Amino acid sequence: MDIKFTDLGLRSELIEGIQRLGFESPSPIQAETIPVALSGKDIVGLSQTGSGKTAAFGLPALNMIEIDRKETQVLVLCPTRELAVQVCEEINRLAAALRGLTSVPVYGGTPIDRQMRALRNGAHIVVGTPGRIMDHLRRKTLRTDAIKLCILDEADRMLDMGFREDMEVILGDMPEERQALFFSARLSSIHRRLGIKKKSHHI
Ligand code: AMP
Repeated sequence: MDIKFTDLGLRSELIEGIQRLGFESPSPIQAETIPVALSGKDIVGLSQTGSGKTAAFGLPALNMIEIDRKETQVLVLCPTRELAVQVCEEINRLAAALRGLTSVPVYGGTPIDRQMRALRNGAHIVVGTPGRIMDHLRRKTLRTDAIKLCILDEADRMLDMGFREDMEVILGDMPEERQALFFSARLSSIHRRLGIKKKSHHI
């Protein structure tokens, strides 16, 4: 039997948004990831660009946001500015039916002031590159106490680019009970390199 978006446990406003985007059915990675992510488990997912991985993590992320709380609740780490912008745009498209939801991209090589303002206003979802996220953590413009979910997109690429230490510091700065989703095009080394817990669900 074909799996439908309505089978995955998502809020009705999100299903509405997905329908408006013209997505007919979940891609395999979405069908596998979304229910497990909604159950609160950590996930290590093997995924390529074009598999629909952004919605695979973006939809459960949106599902758990409490819009009335103007605090950062989800952090997405990406290796590059381009990917951070692209992921943030896709999340905003998926969130079109969620009124009041804010998702902001945060990356280096551009003045920090506007990003600081957006963060101070309590962006629900922050999508950023490790260096600039570290910068905001140091300046305390990004507060971590309400973060429930941390997503690492293209984790292998971030490690290859030398972000390992930043990734560890950022993850270490999150509340203890936060959920984590790791996506990577290769799995071979990310466990060892990031010290991922064995009990994570593998996709
Ligand atoms: P991604 O792999 O996340 O970069 O997504 C690749 C493209 O597929 C994006 O343009 C998405 O908007 C689109 N997409 C993601 N999920 C679906 C789906 N279930 N049905 C149709 N298009 C999708």
